[in-house]
Amino acid sequence: MFSTVWLTVIFTLAGAAVGSFLNVCIGRIPEGLSIVTPPSHCPQCGHPIRFYDNIPIISFLLLGGKCRDCRGRISFRYPLIELLTAVFAWLLFRRFGLTPAFPAVFVFVCTLIVISFIDFDHQIIPHVLTLSGIPVFAVLAVLFAGLTVIDAFLGVMIGAGILYFVAVYYEALTGREGMGGGDVNLLAMLGAFLGWKSLLFVLLVSSLLGAVVGLAFILFKGKDMKYAVPFGPFLCIAAVVYLFFGGDLIALFLSPRI
Ligand SMILES: [Zn+2]
Repeated sequence: MFSTVWLTVIFTLAGAAVGSFLNVCIGRIPEGLSIVTPPSHCPQCGHPIRFYDNIPIISFLLLGGKCRDCRGRISFRYPLIELLTAVFAWLLFRRFGLTPAFPAVFVFVCTLIVISFIDFDHQIIPHVLTLSGIPVFAVLAVLFAGLTVIDAFLGVMIGAGILYFVAVYYEALTGREGMGGGDVNLLAMLGAFLGWKSLLFVLLVSSLLGAVVGLAFILFKGKDMKYAVPFGPFLCIAAVVYLFFGGDLIALFLSPRI
């Protein structure tokens, strides 16, 4: 019991530190920059960030959200992503415990966080993440999360197939591009890790979320959300919901009613 508490604390703190690295990935991958060098620096004055000013969440609070050198504002997104990653490390450890599945699902969720924020910022989902993610996550799921090879294979094929046809038909019918190739690759990657049975759930929940947010945009801002909100983050949110509850939900629907 005692050791479980300590492990939870350690994994949560490690999650915050990983979140700090995810911030670097979100900022640099779309620019095609190295995520290893150079070390973090202030985006405004370029001064390298001292190690004691680089403590996740805490440094942001101590510095009052300002750079020590130029007093330029630091975006609240940095501590937010560190906190988000820490919370997921905590939740995933509670859900999966000290099993081989835990590091696999944690890496998966971290990748989804990076993809969501990049898509949100730039309306792109870098191929370098999804195309390398498809084989990596298929192997991780089969080795550590109990997915069968067939399940992962069908997940990739059906995932890529469904959105490909949705995208092609949508464009043919409306004459404008609704779904990018990035979304197609992303759903294939989700299918690789969660298996083909997850895809209907992920598509339904993400479309529902997208529709609700889209309507809110039209109602409150008076504009078509197609030009404002990308679809990738909704796919990622639905995948995370499935990761936590999917097995139970599907069992609920498929179980014989009395
Ligand atoms: Zn600065």
